[in-house]
Amino acid sequence: MWPNGKRWVYSITYDEGCQALLDHAVPIHRRYGVPGHLALVASQIGVPRDVPGSSYDGMQILSRDEIHMLCDEGWGVSCHGMTHAHITEENVAEEVYAGREQLSTTLDMSVTMFCLPGNNTHHEIVKAHAAKAGYTSIMTIYDDVNRADVDLLRLCRCPLHQEYPPPFYSAYDPYKRLHQAIDCGGWIIDYCHCPTPDTPIHPWKDCTAEQLAERFETVCRLGGDDVWLAEPNEVVKHLLEQRS
Ligand SMILES: [Zn+2]
Repeated sequence: MWPNGKRWVYSITYDEGCQALLDHAVPIHRRYGVPGHLALVASQIGVPRDVPGSSYDGMQILSRDEIHMLCDEGWGVSCHGMTHAHITEENVAEEVYAGREQLSTTLDMSVTMFCLPGNNTHHEIVKAHAAKAGYTSIMTIYDDVNRADVDLLRLCRCPLHQEYPPPFYSAYDPYKRLHQAIDCGGWIIDYCHCPTPDTPIHPWKDCTAEQLAERFETVCRLGGDDVWLAEPNEVVKHLLEQRS
């Protein structure tokens, strides 16, 4: 099912593409050989983030050259909207269609994956426009393992956060969904934003750099030779080839 005899798949994505990833996450990726992925707001490359009310507002976003450097190391990108707005029939042309064109032009890269900004409530409308807008896949924040027959327009992601919202305040778990993925030969796509040392920027949106390292150590220890450490676009490409 997976290439080279691999039995399950592990990916991780970072929404927004903060420049601080270079300091806090990229060295951990290099240590464990895990490729990363950036979900990028098309209008905000190489500038301070301008999404008022966001926990990450004002943080510097990676530049085109920095993104290219990461892609040369095996990282990939997706479009996270033109402005990170909630998507409706009124703004879908701008957020989904023009967003892809602008990001592709700015980065001089083909972009075929969309990543829902904010939440899943606009998933259906994005899904209805995806193919026409040039996307082959959509990442959501439905929290589950992706099986081999996954709907590529509804890819699930597993939040890798220090704590989860009330009423449970579930604690960080470096094993989250790993045994499930191993048992079903599935694909985990973790997501967070910008891990930082000691304290996350927001405990319900991020983990710490130490927890990121613990996650990768756990994935590699449990996965051994069986896990495919893969960038999400690569996995979609593999599944599309298998299905054609
Ligand atoms: Zn976002």
